[in-house]
Amino acid sequence: MITVNDRAYRLPHKPTVVVCVDGCEPEYIAQAVAHGRMPWLAQVLAEGTALVADCVIPSFTNPNNLSIVTGAPPSVHGICGNYLFDVASGCEVMMNDPKWLRAPTLLAALTDAGCSVAVITAKDKLRKLLGHGMKGICFSAERADDTTIDEHGISGVLDLVGLPLPSVYSAALSEFVFAAGVQLMARAKGRFGRPDVMYLSTTDYVQHKHAPGTEGADAFYAMMDDYLGRLDAMGCVIALTADHGMNAKTRMDGRPDVIYLQDVLDSWLGARTARVILPITDPYVVHHGALGSFATVYLPSGVDAAALVLRLQGLRGIESVRMRADAAAHFELPADRIGDVVVVSERFTVIGTSAARHDLSALDAPLRSHGGVSEQRVPLIVNRAIHDIDAQRRWRNFDAFDLALNHAQ
Ligand code: ZN
Ligand code: ZN
Repeated sequence: MITVNDRAYRLPHKPTVVVCVDGCEPEYIAQAVAHGRMPWLAQVLAEGTALVADCVIPSFTNPNNLSIVTGAPPSVHGICGNYLFDVASGCEVMMNDPKWLRAPTLLAALTDAGCSVAVITAKDKLRKLLGHGMKGICFSAERADDTTIDEHGISGVLDLVGLPLPSVYSAALSEFVFAAGVQLMARAKGRFGRPDVMYLSTTDYVQHKHAPGTEGADAFYAMMDDYLGRLDAMGCVIALTADHGMNAKTRMDGRPDVIYLQDVLDSWLGARTARVILPITDPYVVHHGALGSFATVYLPSGVDAAALVLRLQGLRGIESVRMRADAAAHFELPADRIGDVVVVSERFTVIGTSAARHDLSALDAPLRSHGGVSEQRVPLIVNRAIHDIDAQRRWRNFDAFDLALNHAQ
């Protein structure tokens, strides 16, 4: 038994795999199952445990992956977006360095307790955060050609997996994660052998482009089903969840439905009086144009934040506007790492900074994105029947390890 962030976990008896399917709106699974493309999962849904859980807000990748591996919300682990506005320096800084992490991960605690652990991510941006303090294998598909025993706990990944290095903007990047997971699990037990616990985290390239039930989406889920079925056949306990959902964010003409919040605030308060931060912004913006349904706003002293909240609430397409303390309590966020005001937009709407700062020319499909409360519902599925489960409680994606280790062995 180990305790991490005030939650107790049993050590696994069976090889255990937790999968975070990036951008997996539950509808993707429903459509692929209905189309007969996920035979393994259809059986798990019938005989195992199938819940719908809430992810953490903002419904972005890094905060949720860190919640899943710490078993705690961002108020505990500190990672509340890809970007942080450092008020002292006036700079926007990336939050993908482990120095921003405020809590230990369960993965590190498992290796301390003698378990062998493997972490495979699609993009390299998550690798250092997830692998912080952990002694096992941790690498990304994006940089699978460049792993060393010292840094990643493994070398020769391309030979092991037998697939070429995938492009960072491709479905193949996620497939590589599953293929590598199956190869690691197929090894004999022992040093550098089969992991006791594996965490697989994909990328939402496909979900940003393809709606549930379309061929592009169904083909992705069929691929995933095949690999998960192979892990199941090896005797793995598998818990599947997602970092967030995904929705179309378009107007009737197919163009993105954007509230350019910096432009709005500039016109209300004067140019650059307020500072809008979009924590979705990261170096990989091609598929979403840095547009999501969550923003935080920093205000200089002297601006009446309460009055501004009321005025913002009146904007079409805005779902909720909260002052810092309210937002921190309601969304379980670290109050010192969000702005004075937190703005969430509705299901079909995204928030931008200034129109001039978003290059939408690279969007080659109608915008689909996330970040808001409208993308909070995610699957939480375990390939074992769990009988003592309360289907009425509010399950979270960061209960995945609890279910896998404490209830499904
Ligand atoms: Zn994501
Ligand atoms: Zn995304």
